[in-house]
Amino acid sequence: MTETKRFRCIKCGEESPRKLHEEPDKSKVLYYSMQGTPVYKNKIRCGSCGTIFDKT
Ligand SMILES: [Zn+2]
Repeated sequence: MTETKRFRCIKCGEESPRKLHEEPDKSKVLYYSMQGTPVYKNKIRCGSCGTIFDKT
C-alpha cells in the first residue's frame, strides 16, 4: 500500500512527490465548514513546469 499518493504531471510527466504539491484550488469551494470557512478542492501543482491539474 505505497500507492496512496502517486501523481503524475499531465504536461511534463513529473512523478516525484517532492515536485508535485497539493494546493487548494480557490475557485472551487467544496463546502463550508461549520465555522463558515470554505473548504477548497485540492489540486496538484507541478514544481517542474508549473502546470496545475486535478487529482485523478
Ligand atoms: Zn510538469
